[in-house]
Amino acid sequence: MDAAFCAAWLEAAALAVAADRERLTDLDAAIGDADHGANLDRGFSEVRQALAAGGPGQPLAVAGVTLIRKVGGASGPLYGSLLRAMGKALGESFTLAGFAAAFQAGVDEVARLGKAVEGDKTMLDALGPAARAVAGAVRDGAEPRAAFERAAEAAREGALATVPLVARKGRASYLGERSAGHEDPGAASSALIVGALVTADGE
Ligand code: ADP
Ligand code: MG
Ligand code: MG
Repeated sequence: MDAAFCAAWLEAAALAVAADRERLTDLDAAIGDADHGANLDRGFSEVRQALAAGGPGQPLAVAGVTLIRKVGGASGPLYGSLLRAMGKALGESFTLAGFAAAFQAGVDEVARLGKAVEGDKTMLDALGPAARAVAGAVRDGAEPRAAFERAAEAAREGALATVPLVARKGRASYLGERSAGHEDPGAASSALIVGALVTADGE
């Protein structure tokens, strides 16, 4: 696996976010401030432009810095840190095991920065299970394709499992108990971004 795979992942993630922009915004309208789809769509458009400009640097690190700089909401710095940490951990070429370790390092960075744990009803509820699914697939000797399919499934399940939770971090936490009964927008977007790994692997 190499930097071209990372670029393909980011491209697939950008398309997925653009396609589901309205759904992400609707989820955020229910328990936040109705900007999650717009925040991410704009952020990933900036990522595409930054990558198309063809500058130096690992694509994930370029994307991470771009999201941190260009997205105002909570999700920009958090996704930016995820991708920047992954880019730092990955060289020009890497194995699936290397990718799994980088993914976990990125998720740990999100948790550190957001001071959140799984169960707080955030993107971590999708990202954490996804990172563990890739690591588990590596231990089972799975091919990247199967590993990414398992990660995508784990992320989707994790996102859906946020529905009954009461938010303890981010804007949704201001609602207290009233945040229960809605899927967390960041967990939903994480499921899209992790799902884009499967698309990227097919290219
Ligand atoms: P904002 O809340 O600033 O408008 P977004 O709407 O773009 O930002 O993103 C909201 C998402 O960010 C939430 O659904 C949640 O998944 C995630 N989030 C917010 N705060 C945290 C945090 N402290 N740790 C992890 N994720 C968080
Ligand atoms: Mg918002
Ligand atoms: Mg906002």
